Amino acid sequence: MRIGQGIDVHAFGPGDYVTLGGVRIAHDHGLVAHSDGDVVIHALCDALLGALALGDIGRLFPPSDEQWRNADSRTFLRHCTALVAQHGFVLGNADVTVVCERPRLAPHVERMRATLATDLGCAIGDISVKATTSEKLGFTGRGEGIAATAVVLLQARAVPASLVNEDDSELRAFVERVAAEVDADVVRPAPGGSVAATTTQRQRGP
Ligand code: MG
Repeated sequence: MRIGQGIDVHAFGPGDYVTLGGVRIAHDHGLVAHSDGDVVIHALCDALLGALALGDIGRLFPPSDEQWRNADSRTFLRHCTALVAQHGFVLGNADVTVVCERPRLAPHVERMRATLATDLGCAIGDISVKATTSEKLGFTGRGEGIAATAVVLLQARAVPASLVNEDDSELRAFVERVAAEVDADVVRPAPGGSVAATTTQRQRGP
C-alpha cells in the first residue's frame, strides 16, 4: 500500500472560465498556466506520482516541452493512471480539496468526481472532491488564485496489471519511456556519487 499527496496553485488571469477536475466552469477570470491550469488534476497527478515515487508532474510533463502547451490536463491524469497500473497498483481512493472564494464550486463537484473517476478508471465512490474558502485570508482569500490539495492511497493489485487503454500506442510509448528513464536513474549515480533518492525506493508491484 502506498500513500501520496499533491498540492497545486494557479493564479487568476484574463479569461471567462476555469477548468477544474476536467470540468469547464464559467468565471470572470481564467487561470494562468502553460496547460489549462487545472489545479485539481495537477494536485491529483502529483499525489499519484508521489505515491509511486516517480517525481512530479513538472518532470513528466515539462512546460518547456511544446507538446504540453495548452494541454488538456485530463491527458496528464490518464498518463498517471497508466503509470499506476504499470507499477502494479490500483487506486484505493482519492480525496481532493479545492480552496477559493469564487467561483462557487458546489454545483460542479459531482461532475468533477465523475470526470476524474473516468480518467482514473475507478468508481465515483472512490473519488472525493471538496471545496472550501480560506475565509478571505491569504492569496485565495483575496481572489488572486485557486489552490488544491490531493491525497491518494494506492493498493497493490492481486493480479498482474496491464496498461489502461492498451490500444493507445502513444500512451503506451510514453509510459514505457518514463519507465526506462526511471530504471536508468536507478543505476545512474546522481551528482555526488549517491544514487537518485527518488527512484531507489520505488516499489514495483507484486
Ligand atoms: Mg499546475
